[in-house]
Amino acid sequence: MAATGHSLGIPEITSVGVIGAGQMGNGIAHVAALAGLPVVLVDVKAEALDKALATIRRNMDRQQAKGALTAEAKEAALGRIRTGTEMALLGESDIVIEAATEREALKLAIFKAACPLLKPAAILASNTSSIPITRLAAATDRPERVIGMHFMNPVPVMKLVEVIRGIATDEPTFDAVLALAGRLGKVTAVSQDYPAFIVNRILIPMINEAVQALQEGVGDVRSIDTALKLGANHPMGPLELADFIGLDTCLAIMRVLHEGMGDSKYRPSPLLVKYVEAGWLGRKAGRGFYDYSQDPPKATR
Ligand code: NAD
Repeated sequence: MAATGHSLGIPEITSVGVIGAGQMGNGIAHVAALAGLPVVLVDVKAEALDKALATIRRNMDRQQAKGALTAEAKEAALGRIRTGTEMALLGESDIVIEAATEREALKLAIFKAACPLLKPAAILASNTSSIPITRLAAATDRPERVIGMHFMNPVPVMKLVEVIRGIATDEPTFDAVLALAGRLGKVTAVSQDYPAFIVNRILIPMINEAVQALQEGVGDVRSIDTALKLGANHPMGPLELADFIGLDTCLAIMRVLHEGMGDSKYRPSPLLVKYVEAGWLGRKAGRGFYDYSQDPPKATR
């Protein structure tokens, strides 16, 4: 970490490591590199790294085509991204943002393995959608420097980063992460470390309620989506949005809420469970509440 930047004593983050080069990891590397920060992107799979670099280039090409980026700025940003399969490459990073698969045991193992390889002062952030930051922090040698940085998908487009403080997160870490989010062009919302944080705590039960209304026959898929789009001014209906997020992800987050809050009001809708059991997971599976093999997509109920 560079010497404390200014009078407030906030440590300035001048380099970023990212663990996990999937949808979210490549987006985080993208915005950090564009903000002028050197980035190290690490994944266990070499092919995930190749794919991530190709995706970043394609997404930057799109920004260039829209006039949001010059060819020089794009090449400079791409030149700031280093990739590799060894976590030891993260040894110089001021912050490491973990964006690996959403499995608690996996994230705990990553946090434990990464710590001895990092600079002692490095901040360790997680992009987890639902795993308690406090629990991840407890697996490390630096719980006061562990924090949640929850980016939204797609990262280069979505403005929000939820910043989640674990119970031990200290003030300099929090301030440094707020400053980093600002440098990445993001707006922050601060959440305490309760199940599913803010966005998913409110959004996913709404989607679950839409599925429950569908199950009860209150309305069909199109009626429910049209009602919320035009009646509540939502840009997408809840069922269309569920397909976009992935129904398996929606169900997993509902289960985290149900278990973490111990309150039956968070029980997953049986119809949501049924769609997931059928493998109808939404857009990525070609079918969810809509059938995407048809153009325009056809409502399934
Ligand atoms: P993904 O499946 O696209 O990518 C995960 C990547 O992690 C894969 O490339 C995988 O090879 C890699 N990985 C697995 N084990 C690893 C290890 N030990 N070390 C390094 N890399 C490893 O998943 P994603 O959608 O990018 O999600 C990543 C994280 O971001 C999850 O915690 C998820 O909850 C969170 N998140 C996802 C979204 C979303 O909409 N997809 C939104 C916000 C947050």
